[in-house]
Amino acid sequence: MKRQRITVLGATGSIGVNTLDVVARHPDRYEVFALTGHSRIEELASQCRAYRPRFAVVGDPAGAQRLSASLRQDGIATEVLAGPEGLEQVSAAPEVDAVMAAIVGAAGLRPTLAAVRAGKRVLLANKESLVMAGEAFMAEVRKSGATLLPIDSEHNAVFQSLPAEFHGDFAGAGVRKILLTASGGPFRTMPAERLANVTPDEACAHPNWVMGRKISVDSATMMNKGLEVIEAHWLFNAAPERIEVVVHPQSVIHSLVEYVDGSVLAQLGNPDMRTPIAHALAYPERIDAGVSSLDLFKVAQMTFERPDMERFPCLRLAYEALRAGGNAPAVLNAANEVAVAAFLAGRLPFLGIAGVIADTLAAVRPGPANELAAVLDADAEARVVAEAALARR
Ligand code: NAD
Ligand code: MG
Repeated sequence: MKRQRITVLGATGSIGVNTLDVVARHPDRYEVFALTGHSRIEELASQCRAYRPRFAVVGDPAGAQRLSASLRQDGIATEVLAGPEGLEQVSAAPEVDAVMAAIVGAAGLRPTLAAVRAGKRVLLANKESLVMAGEAFMAEVRKSGATLLPIDSEHNAVFQSLPAEFHGDFAGAGVRKILLTASGGPFRTMPAERLANVTPDEACAHPNWVMGRKISVDSATMMNKGLEVIEAHWLFNAAPERIEVVVHPQSVIHSLVEYVDGSVLAQLGNPDMRTPIAHALAYPERIDAGVSSLDLFKVAQMTFERPDMERFPCLRLAYEALRAGGNAPAVLNAANEVAVAAFLAGRLPFLGIAGVIADTLAAVRPGPANELAAVLDADAEARVVAEAALARR
């Protein structure tokens, strides 16, 4: 069997590291073509020593020089590139079979699109690119014939619970709705008056998952679930009213699909991102992911709650942006990135995040988002407006 050549965008992050863990279990199936990281040069250097990729990409030329020097000392021939052009080059290179899109935030859009346009198998962790540019993104997928496989655990679970040949026709497939599960994050039961003073470290201490800091804060505000509702809309062609959020604090059921005959199919497992990563890497085959068996006797109980839209206004804002359509989801995403960065930097209280996003959505003029240029304009404008909203607080 010919080995699949993989590019891992965002290799130094949480998803990137988990991806390399799965890849390392199957040296007969996968070889690493390129690894990218932004600023953690030392981590990227050790990954290059272990996986010997053809290319490595970092954020800027100074970082590239440091990485090159470090690799040259060890006699490693990896070629080092820098910046967005480097990312697009290793995403679209003809040698590449699959691209793991695991850069966080809007920075992931262009390199992920480059992989899509080149018709790759795209393993999509970077939900922000679909939230921002879903319409343009999915049009490119159809045009190039790229294979898009969801890594987000909920969407991977939905994908596994839908018929194999599902192409977005709910009625034709007898699908009634998609149920996205949510853990509720670290603040689900915290007394409301304490939320005003929670710290970044408290927000990043997720009860069930270990993740990067931006998505951890998104989980604490439940904006992560809001972004996932929008992601599900584009991935599965699901109308907003066919996507329901179910709070399930144990994070054992990763999502469900309800059919018209009353059947509800779900995917379960331990909360470990190596499961969806291995699923998407090997699809339609199955490979060992290094994940232990689900011990239902230890789980013992699974509980379900309705999401609290008062406590978590970000989830409501995301549904509103999806219903508004056009550039609203891109504006929501950009404002959220600005607000979360400010919260992590100690410049905005936790409860201010939703306010900055609401102010930005109200201030940016609605427009279309069917072209990439319009999406990037909306993103840029929303960042300026959100910074101004921050400064007023
Ligand atoms: P992380 O912060 O751990 O890693 C982010 C990666 O992106 C790093 O490799 C970093 O070097 C790179 N990066 C950051 N800014 C960049 C920039 N401007 N240009 C180029 N590269 C840049 O994040 P993560 O938790 O691994 O999440 C990655 C993506 O996967 C996010 O979109 C997140 O929503 C999604 N996701 C993560 C999880 C999870 O369990 N961690 C689950 C579902 C979805
Ligand atoms: Mg998820």
